[in-house]
Amino acid sequence: HQVSPFLDPGRRTKADSLAILQLSRDDFVPVYLQSTVGEHDGYAEGAVTNTRFGSFPHSTLLNVPWGSQIRASKVDTGSRGRKRKRGVTEEADGPSSEATENVVAEKEDGTANGTTKQAVADSSGFIHILPPTPEIWTTSLPHRTQVVYTPDYSYILQRIRARPGTTIIEAGAGSGSFTHASVRAVYNGYPGDGKRKGKVVSFEFNEERYHKMKKEILDHGLEGLVTLTHRDVYRDGFLLDGKSPEADAVFLDLPAPWEALPHLTRRGGKDGETERVSPLHPKKTVHICTFSPCIEQVTRTVSTLRHLGWVDIEMVEIAHRKLHTLRERVGLNLPVDRGVNNSPRDVEEALGRLAEIEERLRETIARPRTDGDDEDMEDEKPAVDAEKKMDAPELLKYMWQDGRLVTRMEPEIKSHTSYLVFAVLPVEWTAEDEAAALEKYPVGG
Ligand code: SAM
Repeated sequence: HQVSPFLDPGRRTKADSLAILQLSRDDFVPVYLQSTVGEHDGYAEGAVTNTRFGSFPHSTLLNVPWGSQIRASKVDTGSRGRKRKRGVTEEADGPSSEATENVVAEKEDGTANGTTKQAVADSSGFIHILPPTPEIWTTSLPHRTQVVYTPDYSYILQRIRARPGTTIIEAGAGSGSFTHASVRAVYNGYPGDGKRKGKVVSFEFNEERYHKMKKEILDHGLEGLVTLTHRDVYRDGFLLDGKSPEADAVFLDLPAPWEALPHLTRRGGKDGETERVSPLHPKKTVHICTFSPCIEQVTRTVSTLRHLGWVDIEMVEIAHRKLHTLRERVGLNLPVDRGVNNSPRDVEEALGRLAEIEERLRETIARPRTDGDDEDMEDEKPAVDAEKKMDAPELLKYMWQDGRLVTRMEPEIKSHTSYLVFAVLPVEWTAEDEAAALEKYPVGG
């Protein structure tokens, strides 16, 4: 049984396993590497992945260290080439053995300039081959629904205390973005974690999505850790063959979480039915998160949670922004400043500008610095004597210090802006617990 490449990819790529081809910084293509020998889909080399940077026979992608840079190959289109490209096949039919010589293993020099035997127009590109991670999968997965993005799920997973050994109930599975992140969080395959059996118990109502996801779980080697069930959880709840999955964490990404919540009580069953099996762990506190785009959904969810005895209810919205902080340069209109070409037209203009800058700097540094909100700053003495003649390096130093600190927002990171509702369901205190406690700590005794 092969461990999922998401959990333990090993050092090198292998056949019948998922790998990620990185074309550029944010462009990832998931590929199932195939060991097929002989003609495949018309290619004499076996399986080939075509990208905008050229063709990559899988023979060049297999058994290389993760992170390797791989050069594109001239591929032998075999029968397909002969069929479709009559007249140009001779050119296209390079000897297939040459393909393997195109591996520039382990990014030796970090450039694309390794020499290969095939310097032909359609084989000049390269890619990097990366092991799959939930983060990369989230950005490259085939979207079947809205998905939960990394900024949200990283926060959610720590708030619901997902860790090796946790059993998470998840509904609906959707495109499996959250599933992949959560399975890694609860994975118990590391040495010493043998006894902690973490798993993800996932439910999906849409049949087509269910089948696609089922195949993905299998292809990604996650079948031992993710149980996917085709079910309407509003109606039929979260038991597996009538038995409790004994979950201690729950994540609901559903249009109406309040419809599912009545199944997630200590007694299980909807509408006050008594003594049904609960899908929750009987002896563990349960942490839940529901994920909803509208505040009306949040209100109904919170109300239902309160009604069903959940505590510590809290709503959070993750607003993920990347701030780029820099100090503005004082009057230094360098050639490409914010994309505008400001270069002086001639030496005279350059000298004029420098004189202007010098003058402005003298004025600025003669004043006390007041770049904070701090009111006490008024008493502060100028840092330097304005009368003192400064040489160019000294001036430059002050130019740097005197620029205002500015922050600019980088283009927004993709994140499904939803409201996150968190709550906790404490362990139920039973009559037996009370009796045991009284025996151990007798009242008045
Ligand atoms: N969290 C997923 C991800 O990260 O890829 C996306 C979930 S998607 C927004 C919501 C999913 O819930 C849809 O696939 C939908 O079919 C499923 N769903 C809706 N109602 C359901 C129900 N009653 N029972 C089970 N699944 C349901």
